[in-house]
Amino acid sequence: MGVSAPYIDTYELTRLGQRLEGHTPLRQFARLVEGLPDQGDAQADWSLRGEQDALGRRFLHLQVAAGLVLECQRCLAPFVLRLDASSRLEVVSKAADLDDESGDEGEEPVERILASRRLDVLALVEDELILGVPYVPKHDVCPDAPRPPDDVAGGAEAESGPGKPSPFAVLGGLKKN
Ligand SMILES: [Zn+2]
Repeated sequence: MGVSAPYIDTYELTRLGQRLEGHTPLRQFARLVEGLPDQGDAQADWSLRGEQDALGRRFLHLQVAAGLVLECQRCLAPFVLRLDASSRLEVVSKAADLDDESGDEGEEPVERILASRRLDVLALVEDELILGVPYVPKHDVCPDAPRPPDDVAGGAEAESGPGKPSPFAVLGGLKKN
């Protein structure tokens, strides 16, 4: 039972604290899947909840979860990236307020969107998904790739514990032979 009308009235949703959710096939998100492998029947599960706080500020809480098929840029095999994103958007009435940085001290900066009687929820969901796609998608460890040479890019500092001979000592030993 997905929600069939993907447009919301941000005034109503926040005032009433309503929540809606849906499951949308990824292939429906044209901007997202452009250049990506076939997503098959994978869906995005999303929910959107409105909130109005004691100060009258209005927020939307968006949650999106999906398994996106991406192409690994190292081994070129497709793999599924599990995305689980959530964000809080403040709904403002005037375009001028979109860039207003005068938030409360110590509060996390929030993204702002313009209030609308007809906000496209799926566009919001799609934006959230797009933000979650890595610039260069890669397996953590490619399945069939040969083991990469030990590069010490990870900043692994050589352990110079008592049990380990210093490199100089080893060199010295080599010279003797
Ligand atoms: Zn790979």
